[in-house]
Amino acid sequence: MRLGGPARYVVEVEQPIEAPDAYNFAKLYSLPTAILGGGANSIGRDEGFPGAIIMNKIRGIELKPSTENPEVFELKAMGGEIWDDVVAFACEKGLTGIEALSKIPGTAGAAPVQNIGAYGQDISQVLKSIEAYDTTDGHFKLLTNKDLKFGYRKSILNTTMKGRFFVISMTMTLKKGQMARPFYNSLENFIKENGETDFSPSSIRRMVSAIRADKLPDPAKIPSAGSFFKNVYIPDSQVDECRSRGLPVYQGADGNKINSGWLIEKAGLAGKLIHGFRVNEKAALVLINECATGYEDLIEARNEIANKVYDRFGFKLEQEPVEII
Ligand SMILES: Cc1cc2nc3c(=O)[nH]c(=O)nc-3n(C[C@H](O)[C@H](O)[C@H](O)COP(=O)(O)OP(=O)(O)OC[C@H]3O[C@@H](n4cnc5c(N)ncnc54)[C@H](O)[C@@H]3O)c2cc1C
Repeated sequence: MRLGGPARYVVEVEQPIEAPDAYNFAKLYSLPTAILGGGANSIGRDEGFPGAIIMNKIRGIELKPSTENPEVFELKAMGGEIWDDVVAFACEKGLTGIEALSKIPGTAGAAPVQNIGAYGQDISQVLKSIEAYDTTDGHFKLLTNKDLKFGYRKSILNTTMKGRFFVISMTMTLKKGQMARPFYNSLENFIKENGETDFSPSSIRRMVSAIRADKLPDPAKIPSAGSFFKNVYIPDSQVDECRSRGLPVYQGADGNKINSGWLIEKAGLAGKLIHGFRVNEKAALVLINECATGYEDLIEARNEIANKVYDRFGFKLEQEPVEII
């Protein structure tokens, strides 16, 4: 988002064994800590951060065949690996499970934190376990998929145990093959429009990359945090009523979803400049920092958008990116 002031310290962890050193340093000087991967989903305050930002820079990818099934593999990525490099590696090996998560900016260590998801896939569907440094007792621990209690854009790592575990590595179970149809709507539309017939992991990666390049700002050039609001999930009991109001409800494995981008667009905000932030024309869930003067502008913009959507549809939008405090 290109907001926020400086941190007092930034500590880069390049080996798992350096994680305890980083936290011991912070403890010695009574400094608050915050974990950062690539910063793609994090927002800084104008006053900066008075403690130590601990950055995961541990690199490495390992692939091991399963002992029981030659079609199944375990892919272990160290937390500081660039997520999209991990996806590219899996696709090159013909492994399915994360190809639709192509081009999501950030690190592998952050991927399980908010259970990253796109185009019908999310990390919870493939994650076997993570290795993490437990900052409360100074031990390295293995947490399984079940331990992480995944939900839509959440796990214990960003809810009940936020900040407690520093993710050292993540291991996924992937298999040879390809995604099953039906695909996510926008992917299905792309396939039809372009007459695509190859659904191998590399081909889906190519298609998802093309869809994203058309719709989403490149975070290396344009300051944004991707989706600024989470989508809205409604209970089964509200589906009929919402549909009768003309709201598009998608029923998927993760629940009944109303796309918040659609709500923002229908509230007349797509393309508008609000307190220095441009509501992205093609994907209204994305806010771009065009000329904001500071963090306060973001709060004003967030509230204005959320209030307009609430007044029009009665849903309270929830912010997705994390604030470094
Ligand atoms: C243009 C754009 C498009 C995006 N598209 C998507 C999308 O399609 N789907 C999606 O789900 N997200 C999307 N995002 C959000 C973002 O890419 C993901 O949340 C990603 O996982 C952030 O990775 P990061 O390393 O940059 O995390 P950061 O922003 O550095 O950190 C995010 C959170 O994870 C914690 N964290 C990071 N690393 C670790 C670690 N090693 N151990 C413990 N905690 C850690 C941080 O403390 C923070 O709370 C998008 C963002 C942008 C800018």
